[in-house]
Amino acid sequence: MQGRPIDILIVGGGIAGCCAAIALSQTGHRVRIVEKQDAWRFQSSGIFVYANGLESLDKLGLLKEVLAAGFPVPGGRNAYYDHMGVPIVETRYPTADAGRIPAILGIKRAEMHRVMAAHVAALGVPVQLGTTVTALDNGAEGVRATLSDGSVAQAGLVVAADGVRSAMRALIGVDAAPRYTGFGVWRAVHRRPLELTDKIMMMGHAKRFGIMPISDDLLYTFGTVTEPGDIYYPPADWPRLMAGRFAEFGDPAAPFLAELGEESEVLYTAVEEIVLPLPWHRGRVQLIGDAAHASTPFMGQGGAMAMQDAIVLAEAITAHDTLEEALTAFGLARFPICAFVQDASRAVGEAGAKETQGGAAARNLDLRRTAQTKVDTFYGKLRDLTDAGGFGR
Ligand SMILES: Cc1cc2nc3c(=O)[nH]c(=O)nc-3n(C[C@H](O)[C@H](O)[C@H](O)COP(=O)(O)OP(=O)(O)OC[C@H]3O[C@@H](n4cnc5c(N)ncnc54)[C@H](O)[C@@H]3O)c2cc1C
Repeated sequence: MQGRPIDILIVGGGIAGCCAAIALSQTGHRVRIVEKQDAWRFQSSGIFVYANGLESLDKLGLLKEVLAAGFPVPGGRNAYYDHMGVPIVETRYPTADAGRIPAILGIKRAEMHRVMAAHVAALGVPVQLGTTVTALDNGAEGVRATLSDGSVAQAGLVVAADGVRSAMRALIGVDAAPRYTGFGVWRAVHRRPLELTDKIMMMGHAKRFGIMPISDDLLYTFGTVTEPGDIYYPPADWPRLMAGRFAEFGDPAAPFLAELGEESEVLYTAVEEIVLPLPWHRGRVQLIGDAAHASTPFMGQGGAMAMQDAIVLAEAITAHDTLEEALTAFGLARFPICAFVQDASRAVGEAGAKETQGGAAARNLDLRRTAQTKVDTFYGKLRDLTDAGGFGR
C-alpha cells in the first residue's frame, strides 16, 4: 500500500500506541491518538529495555534521547545473589549491532514516555487526552468510531493499543478476559548510590528482589511474590507492605526496603496475562501491544514487544497491497515471537513460585552452571524468531 496514506486512529497512548503513531506517521500515514487518561500520567517505577527494544527505539529515532534519559548497565551485567546477599553468579546480556546498541537500559517509565510523547508531538500527531472509543462501526470501506466526547472519527484503520484490560477487544467481538497469573509485583524508586551500576537479582525462596539503575541518580527496586488475586491493597499501605513482603532479604536490598515510607514512590501490580490466538485483527481494527499479548514480566520484554509490533505493523502496511493482507501478515509475523516470550516468562515465574527453602542450594548450583547458557539461548532464539518475522528488513 506504499504511497497510499491511510487515516489511522490509535486508541491508547502507552508504549505501543506512541511507537505505532511514530512508525505509521514516519511511513506517511495520517495518524491521531485518543488516550483515556486526561493527562499523561505514567506509572512510577522503571522499566528495562533490552537490546532488541533499544534496536526498535533506534529505528524509530528515539535511541539517543532514551539512552540519555536512562542508564545503560555497563557490560550488560546481571549479578545474582541469594536473599542474604551472597553472590551466586554473574551473567551478561547480549548487545546488538556489534556493540553499538547496549545490552540493557534501565529508565524511569515517565521519562521514556516523555521522549515518546515529544516525538509524537514533533511529527504533528494530534493526541486527544481524556478520550476513548464508545462504539465502532467496522465497515468494509472504513471504520466509524464514536468517541467519548460524542464526536465521530472516520478511519481506514484503527489500532487498538489500549493495554491488558483493553476495552477495544470487546468492541470488536474478541472474547478474551485477562488471566490473573498469581503474581504480584512491588516496585519502588530510590536514590542510586553511585557505586551501584549492575542489574541485581536476589533469589529468595519463591520470591525475587531486583535492583536496577534507571538514571544517573535513581534506581528502582522490584519484588515478585505470589499474591492472592482477589485482594485490594490500599495504595497508602504499599510502602509498608512492600517492606514486609521482603523483610528477610539482606544487603544490597535491605537499605532500600528500610527507607520505604509514606513519601516513597511505591507501586503494586497484580500481574495479568492475555493469551489470544490469531487473528489479532477484525476487519479494519488491529490489536497490538498488551491488548494482544500481555505477558508476565519475568523476561522484561513486554515493552520491547510493543515497540516491535509498531514497526512491523508499519512495514506490513507498506509491503502489502491490501489492508487485510497487511494485518494478516502482521499477526503471522508477531504471534510466534510474542508467544515465545509469554511462554518463557510464564515458565520462569512458575518455576520460581514452586521453590522451597530446602531447594535453594540446588537452585543456586543450577544457576551457576546454566544461567549464562539460558540467557544466550533465550536471546539467540528471540533473534532468530525476530529475523524470521521480517523485522526491519
Ligand atoms: C510489573 C511489570 C513489570 C514490567 N516490566 C517490564 C520491563 O522491565 N520491560 C518491558 O519491556 N516490559 C515490562 N513490562 C511490560 C510492559 O509494561 C508492557 O508490556 C507495556 O507497557 C505494554 O504497552 P502498551 O502500550 O501495550 O500498554 P499500556 O502500557 O498498558 O498502555 C495502554 C494505554 O492505553 C490507555 N487506555 C487504556 N484503555 C483505553 C481506552 N479504552 N481508550 C483509550 N485509551 C486507553 C492507557 O491509559 C494507556 O496509556 C512489565 C509489566 C509489568 C506488569
